[in-house]
Amino acid sequence: MFPEQNVMKDPFGRTINYLRISVTDRCDLRCRYCMPAKGVVRVPMARILSFEEILELARIAVDMGVDKIRLTGGEPLVRRGIERLVHMLAQIPGVRDLAMTTNAQQLQRLAPALAEAGLMRVNISLDTLDAQVFTHLTRGGDLQKTLDGIAAARAAGLTPIKLNCVVQRSADEPHARAVADFAQKEGLQARFIQQMDFESGYFAQVDGGDGGDCPRCNRLRLSADGRIRPCLFSDLGFSVRELGPKRALIQALQNKPLRGGRCAENPMRGVGG
Ligand code: SAM
Ligand code: SF4
Repeated sequence: MFPEQNVMKDPFGRTINYLRISVTDRCDLRCRYCMPAKGVVRVPMARILSFEEILELARIAVDMGVDKIRLTGGEPLVRRGIERLVHMLAQIPGVRDLAMTTNAQQLQRLAPALAEAGLMRVNISLDTLDAQVFTHLTRGGDLQKTLDGIAAARAAGLTPIKLNCVVQRSADEPHARAVADFAQKEGLQARFIQQMDFESGYFAQVDGGDGGDCPRCNRLRLSADGRIRPCLFSDLGFSVRELGPKRALIQALQNKPLRGGRCAENPMRGVGG
């Protein structure tokens, strides 16, 4: 049995119970739709929250009504000691779902420790099953490593495993269909995400998932630079260090827009997808 929890409502009556934590803006890939090849401006290390700061924020968020936490990035597996953070978050009473979104390049090595630490499940990015196209799209990634990561996640019990597949227009594209076939064969769930162009303010609903659906949005985000972001499609952010975790959470909640709009740059790498 879980203890009774508070319920967090935004000004439009939406229940907010989902916190997505970007643990780093760093990544071991450079996917073409997410990052430029060169010249990525990194968040200075001094501004990245420590595990203890993330834990304190997560505890307060759970106390306010969050029961679902996802670790993302950047690439969460490049944050050193990530399994220690997973362990810390898994101990918070009231966390019913603790998941991670990852490119799985390093998951073969880390899956057992993550599962042991209390991670429940993973979403893995996989846009194609063609090794050359994979390397091209990710600017240097190794398809086999992601496939090995998927197998390791399954063996470690990080299930159900969902595959995130970015498509240009529809899930009918050949690479997406190959991913769908692979998912069916392997007993995994595939979700197709239309490639978003943030600068134009264009964003899409996630097919087979719950993203991009403003009336039903249930989330807040912690960005890699320590701000609570009420919406991925807005530049609003409330600094945890400047305001303190509780005020940052409350202000983000109170300023959650009715629907997404524009933001100055692709927020995926710093805020998490
Ligand atoms: N590095 C991890 C990964 O790739 O799974 C987690 C962070 S990544 C920013 C989270 C998700 O955002 C991935 O599934 C990725 O495919 C998606 N993504 C990144 N840029 C996108 C874009 N322009 N449009 C749609 N999805 C995007
Ligand atoms: Fe890295 Fe994920 Fe962005 Fe690809 S989508 S560059 S793996 S953060």
